[in-house]
Amino acid sequence: MLLQGCAPSWDNFIVADLEKFEISQPPELFERMDQEFGAPLHEGIITTTLDSALNWARKNSLWPMTFGLACCAIEMMSMMASRYDAARFGAEVFRGSPRQSDLMIIAGRVSNKMAPVIRHLYRQMPEPKWVISMGACATSTGVFSNYALVPVNQVIPIDVYVPGCPPRPEQLIYSLMLLQQKIQDERGTLRKTLNLD
Ligand code: SF4
Repeated sequence: MLLQGCAPSWDNFIVADLEKFEISQPPELFERMDQEFGAPLHEGIITTTLDSALNWARKNSLWPMTFGLACCAIEMMSMMASRYDAARFGAEVFRGSPRQSDLMIIAGRVSNKMAPVIRHLYRQMPEPKWVISMGACATSTGVFSNYALVPVNQVIPIDVYVPGCPPRPEQLIYSLMLLQQKIQDERGTLRKTLNLD
């Protein structure tokens, strides 16, 4: 009921005088809903392992090193730009120092002169770390069959190889997703983190 002479507003309602609320549906329906709401707790709980949680955090926060060797690096740069947006995978933070990076993308030709530098930078990266070999040149020296180049897997261990000359940004994104899968599938992460192995 509303107070006399006042415009209807919620402030002027006298709650006690309101008509009793009546449900418009059969009571059994609400009974069933109440029962479903009180379903056993295990149906609403997500269980996981510490390994999975650590892997999940790692795979969604990859920080690549700012590092390009040749024309493939242009495609790598475009993967970071707004059109492809590697931020969706948590990998947009390119770091200027190997000590703050956990992903090295070898984008371009690896020359004999550059190989020791790459190895040095790789060793400066903290564990855990991963490497993507991007393009035919990095993986197998590509079309350049000469003494000046070396396949990158002779210098550092590689996790994912991306074919093509140059690979498109979509391919690099796919390699990122494969790497994420590899990280998520890793076993014994906690033991390794705590140096128990
Ligand atoms: S694979 Fe092709 S695009 Fe990439 S560095 Fe070699 S020549 Fe350049």
